[in-house]
Amino acid sequence: MNSIYARDYFVDFAHKLLAVYDQDEAKAIAGYVCAELLMIKWQQLNIIQKELSGAEVEHFDKILNRLLNGEPIHYILGYTWFYGLKFDLNPSVLIPRPETEELVDLVLSYCRKNNITAPTIIDLGTGSGCIPISLKKNLPQAQVYGVDIMPNAIITANHNSRLNKTDVNFVEADMLNTTYLIEVLKISQSPVILISNPPYIAQNEAEGIHKNVLKHEPHTALFVPNDDVLLYYKAIANYVQLSLKQGDSVWLEINPLFAQDTISLFQNLSNTIQSYIINDISGKQRFVYVLI
Ligand code: GLN
Repeated sequence: MNSIYARDYFVDFAHKLLAVYDQDEAKAIAGYVCAELLMIKWQQLNIIQKELSGAEVEHFDKILNRLLNGEPIHYILGYTWFYGLKFDLNPSVLIPRPETEELVDLVLSYCRKNNITAPTIIDLGTGSGCIPISLKKNLPQAQVYGVDIMPNAIITANHNSRLNKTDVNFVEADMLNTTYLIEVLKISQSPVILISNPPYIAQNEAEGIHKNVLKHEPHTALFVPNDDVLLYYKAIANYVQLSLKQGDSVWLEINPLFAQDTISLFQNLSNTIQSYIINDISGKQRFVYVLI
């Protein structure tokens, strides 16, 4: 087989991806594959005269075919990067999103500002474990829990905790079952920092979602019924009311379409002192912060 320059191969790779993705996404994905597997950035492709071996072409062609089939790149590669750490992934867990990194960042700056070094951190609906593992890595004295209803998510999260050499307690439980949460989450360090990025997309919003997400990511992690969009936030509010104390805080990723309704759930609680909506970097009302 004739050798081919990496540059030519990846320009063609991006071009073929236009069958599934728009131009920016196609280029971003081609660039990501190139950077992850060849350690060459897109901008360097023109400078580095790297020729691909037959085995490399075969490997990249297989990835391309799976991409053309609509599989998300992170499931194909089997991992992603989140808050500077590597997380292994499989279709039983949601692919962590950049907005959720912002949530982790908000919590860490709050801890820094308030000299909180050994809180109890609870992440409800933990999926890959990206939130509690990143937090534990940065707050080594914290006592950290991650809760998920799916046994395969707990297996993946435990694996990721080992991969990142952190010690997080993952608990298989339904976050809607407040009584059980109160029973299993033993809080021995204060304050409590409660975090969640629960399912928040109404089923009737699904048509605005890329078909690859719909086809491959776990629907239980994404969707809520149209007639009870705030289902998970109501359960969180219930847990907050029954179990959180003065000085504790709650950090939630939310659906911007329901920001006001979500924050109202917490403003109505008797133990809430302050609550705020925080925008993400694209200016969307994406987070709610509640101080108890
Ligand atoms: N906490 C995980 C994440 O943010 C999973 C969230 C979910 O499954 N809804 O990626």
